[in-house]
Amino acid sequence: MFKKVLVANRGEIATRLIRACKELGIATVAIYSEADATSLYVKKADESYLVGPGPIEGYLNIHRIVDLALKVGVDAIHPGYGFLSEKPSFAELCEKKGITFIGPTSQAIADMGDKVRAREMMKKAGVPIVPGSEGSLKNTDEAAVFAKEIGYPVMIKASGGGGGRGLRVARGEKELVKNMDIAQSESRAAFGISEVFLEKYIERPHHIEFQILADKHGNVIHLGERDCSIQRRHQKIIEISPSLILDADLRDKMGMAAVKAAKAANYVNAGTVEFLVDDKKNFYFLEMNTRIQVEHTITEEVTGIDLVKKQIEIAAGKPLNMGQDKVKARGFAMECRICAEDPKNSFRPNSGRVTAYYSPGGIGVRIDGAIYKDYVIPGFYDSMVAKLVVRGRDWNEVVSRMHRSLDEFVIRGVKTTIPFLRKIMNDPDFINGNFDTGYIDRKPELLNYAEFEDPIDKVAAISAAIAAYHRF
Ligand code: ADP
Ligand code: ADP
Ligand code: MG
Repeated sequence: MFKKVLVANRGEIATRLIRACKELGIATVAIYSEADATSLYVKKADESYLVGPGPIEGYLNIHRIVDLALKVGVDAIHPGYGFLSEKPSFAELCEKKGITFIGPTSQAIADMGDKVRAREMMKKAGVPIVPGSEGSLKNTDEAAVFAKEIGYPVMIKASGGGGGRGLRVARGEKELVKNMDIAQSESRAAFGISEVFLEKYIERPHHIEFQILADKHGNVIHLGERDCSIQRRHQKIIEISPSLILDADLRDKMGMAAVKAAKAANYVNAGTVEFLVDDKKNFYFLEMNTRIQVEHTITEEVTGIDLVKKQIEIAAGKPLNMGQDKVKARGFAMECRICAEDPKNSFRPNSGRVTAYYSPGGIGVRIDGAIYKDYVIPGFYDSMVAKLVVRGRDWNEVVSRMHRSLDEFVIRGVKTTIPFLRKIMNDPDFINGNFDTGYIDRKPELLNYAEFEDPIDKVAAISAAIAAYHRF
């Protein structure tokens, strides 16, 4: 087993990775920017090193990170999600320098990171893909011809896309022409390449993804699914496991397709195979994420398997030692992404000092978080500051437990998505499982909540009123 692991990430996921290492008796090395000097994970690691300059560059400087790793004597690097996790060049550099990259091979990352190539590989392997263009499209004319052929609406997608960026729907030719430009420039700005392709736009689908684990000895299993249909701008907000729309038969079929996908990609370590499921329960491969995901927590809660520990053990060469029949999911789990954003102001990210912080607790509640009282949330990073994860025996229990946990959750000083999430837990459609990926867009009323009235603010208002009265 490894003796020392470098965590090449920040925020809640850095803490999550350090926790797994501690339980395995592995020493940890954190990296941080000046903006992260007061972050929790920096204190939790055994050693921490400032990387920079600037708030972002240090986390992306692959040579600096690998040099540091060699200097401080680490055996392996865990990239977390985002940042370097899906950069084949980073995995490759680690491979070259004799440091274990805790994740798949650089080849598998490159293959699955290119959505066009991934679709080709899946098609060849017999995994159903969303109907769409073979390969990328040269120009708008070519796209228009193809869109007519498969029929509108279509989705324009960046082949190197991720995080919901580089995606645009087109319901007719005019929209296609306009949105091709937007998708291409968005993709160029975010991913450095403007290559796009088309997919048939699936109406009102569910986003269902399967967690897979593959060891270095050819064993591949899946750990069931997560329903990530509650999205805003194609980004997940709430995730649920198991899905309410899958029966045992469909779960088996999709799980087997996910395992087949992983095998076709020569995949090793933890990965996620994403599918769309339409209203007739047809399923289509969407993409494969070659890393630990934000929402891995809910799979851990229902299966009892620590996915980060599994990642580390697999990277160290240990066999899975469990067949598909050993995977048992119990009850339900749900995750809410708690973001420092103002939902009423187009979910604009908020930064600044956290003036009060009380986290929920009690039976079935887990928090993977990055903030505390007096922590100053920097404005440079992703706005997700905590993940609230609850477990319950059944759907009703998990919904009511999430509801009361959101009620208990107090974060002041910055606006957060908590009141918005609470509205969802109160919504009869959500409670009845009546949702798909368009749910949030169709429900502007979810924004109709009263802002929290702080008793302290009230005292201040009363004092001001008394002072004003005395002046007259
Ligand atoms: P998940 O499926 O794990 O929820 P997300 O798509 O929400 O993944 O992405 C997780 C994190 O990684 C987010 O901070 C997101 O902005 C970032 N991310 C995802 N894909 C990319 C990418 N291709 N390039 C840069 N950042 C990305
Ligand atoms: P990303 O790499 O940004 O995660 P994905 O291909 O995984 O992109 O798609 C993200 C989300 O966009 C999906 O969960 C779904 O809501 C929507 N989406 C993607 N492709 C389609 C499609 N062909 N039809 C309908 N919705 C889609
Ligand atoms: Mg995706």
